[in-house]
Amino acid sequence: MPRENRLQGKVAIITGAASGIGAAAVDLFTAQGAKVIANDIDADALERRHGGNPAVVRVARDLTDADAPDAIAAAAIAAFGKLDILFNNAGIAPYDPYLEQQPGAWDRVMAVNVSAVNRMTLAAVPHLRQSGNGRVINTASVASQQAAPALSAYVTSKHAVAGLTKVQALELGPLGITANYVQPGFIVTGMTERYVETAPPGEIDYWRNKTTVGRLGEAIDVANAALFLALDSSNFINGTGIKVDGGASIKM
Ligand code: NAD
Repeated sequence: MPRENRLQGKVAIITGAASGIGAAAVDLFTAQGAKVIANDIDADALERRHGGNPAVVRVARDLTDADAPDAIAAAAIAAFGKLDILFNNAGIAPYDPYLEQQPGAWDRVMAVNVSAVNRMTLAAVPHLRQSGNGRVINTASVASQQAAPALSAYVTSKHAVAGLTKVQALELGPLGITANYVQPGFIVTGMTERYVETAPPGEIDYWRNKTTVGRLGEAIDVANAALFLALDSSNFINGTGIKVDGGASIKM
């Protein structure tokens, strides 16, 4: 990965960092000169994925634990003395048909995908406002605007992430912090790899052909959008979503 140092001197927290989009963002941000606090609930995967990267401090915590957001923010200050970028990326998407919802599934999705984003941001803001160019980047989805079957909690949670980010933009903008969200389409990651491996013939072609570019998305595609939002030069972009779906959602 070419090192261009576009994040030289920056400190970032990236959640959901052991896999998929978060892991790619850790690689990209550190290749660009940032120091990163990499959070994930899966300690082993976090170690396997980032154990060899000297610019990374790993914090294995479940974001929904009451004290986790403060502990993660404190880790950034203890390790690097500051915080510039918060990439709230962790998320879950359990398959859960609407009329057969599993007990607890709805609450868990809301806790991880929405409440943790809110609580992690509140823990980070006192430090982000010292940055002068603070950044909150939330991972939403094309499901912030569209619906998919058997994902009622997920779709609802991602609509909520879009709304929450807009309020964050309104109220944090005057503090020198922008808040935006990325909207991945179909991306091959830990979340989707089982489906990619087991989908009936033709289904993956459907998703590939739904894009305008003839390929499925990769984690680095979304990480690149997060990097763009993290740059100092993006400081007039606030409260908006960036679709990273190969153009799939513009097609009728
Ligand atoms: P992934 O499963 O590869 O990575 C998600 C990571 O989040 C995992 O490592 C997981 O352990 C971690 N995580 C889950 N719960 C956590 C918790 N409570 N505390 C800390 N970490 C936790 O999936 P991904 O596709 O890279 O997902 C990243 C984000 O992208 C999610 O918010 C997801 O909703 C969003 N997204 C993904 C797609 C896609 O097609 N893959 C599409 C749209 C949006």
